[in-house]
Amino acid sequence: MLVERFLKYVKIDTQSSEESTTCPSTEKQFDLANVIIEDLKEIGMSDISMDENGYIMATLPSNIDREVPTIGFIAHMDTAPDYSGKDVKPRIVENYDGGEIVLNEGQNVVMSPVDFPEMKNYKGQDLIVTDGMTLLGADNKAGIAEILEAVDYLVKHPEVKHGEVKVGFTPDEEIGRGANLFDVEKFGAKCAYTIDGGEIGELEYENFNAATVNVKINGRNIHPGTAKNKMINSTLIGMELNEMLPVDQRPEHTEKYEGFFLLISMSGSVENTSMVYIVRDHDKDKFADKKQLIADAAEYLNKKFGAGTVDLEITDSYFNMREKIEPVMEIVEIAKKSMEEVGVTPIIKPIRGGTDGARLSYMGLPCPNIFTGGHNFHGKFEYIPVQSMKKSVEVIVKVIENYTK
Ligand SMILES: [Zn+2]
Repeated sequence: MLVERFLKYVKIDTQSSEESTTCPSTEKQFDLANVIIEDLKEIGMSDISMDENGYIMATLPSNIDREVPTIGFIAHMDTAPDYSGKDVKPRIVENYDGGEIVLNEGQNVVMSPVDFPEMKNYKGQDLIVTDGMTLLGADNKAGIAEILEAVDYLVKHPEVKHGEVKVGFTPDEEIGRGANLFDVEKFGAKCAYTIDGGEIGELEYENFNAATVNVKINGRNIHPGTAKNKMINSTLIGMELNEMLPVDQRPEHTEKYEGFFLLISMSGSVENTSMVYIVRDHDKDKFADKKQLIADAAEYLNKKFGAGTVDLEITDSYFNMREKIEPVMEIVEIAKKSMEEVGVTPIIKPIRGGTDGARLSYMGLPCPNIFTGGHNFHGKFEYIPVQSMKKSVEVIVKVIENYTK
């Protein structure tokens, strides 16, 4: 059922859209939501609900006669706006030989272990790939299929004892809005796991602290022939601002726990210039220092060129969930132990980005992230080994079991 369900879901286009202001951002996400509702009913879940914004929740009632914490599993229904998710034609490469995979002969799209060396790890396994024209949508339809497979298993195996389990499926994660309208109170879990990670073994509970910095620079344009001591060139001030930021703290020079400043866009002329930066750091103090550094640079320029020359607006976007997970670190320990018990080696590493789980953690629902098994998300080279998906299901079931111990 796992693979069939997954293949059924990826064929439904659910691409979200940043341009839209509605929730879900695209009406077509309801196409998948309605199918999921039917599947939840068929499995025999309780309290199945979908609100007007497309958030789905359902309950697997406890089958144990003592108090056990209620836990939840969450996945998102949308696919990334960056790449087409329409007419996805998944194909299963059985018993993969470790070599190149021709995704599309006509278009000459070939996926090669030279470009993607991790492919070699799956020799002899069954890989689900695209036809080279769309993304696959394992991000995050694999997560949905895995969660449903796990609860389906538990319904069919009442001898496996478990507490109350909640499942939640959200729209618009890929445009950063998946947590916005998530009703944490209604969900009613003590903690949850997003099943939205990549390769088998991934377990994540740390992500960036994130802020956006909007810079407006006011210059003074004047005919260059008579500009002496009068012209203030806002674009050059913008360049000066950028030069005051550390060169080694740019995304192209950083990894692991190293944070960065990224100049996302800059446009301007002599009179006015605007710049947008994003600032990222896992460490709370270093994050604060980074924001201070850019503020200090602006202040220096205002002293040099006159008050009001550089106008800075710093807005926090999200924070590292680690702060909210550490007080309940056992939820990470249980996930880690569960992986080991089903023969999966945990790969614990900080996320160099944010997740809906991070936002939910700050909304009162601590929410680490567990692997789906997929690779190369958001593009035509996306693929997922069936064996990794099965392990994800085993991990989910084991986590649920381990909460009774
Ligand atoms: Zn995702």
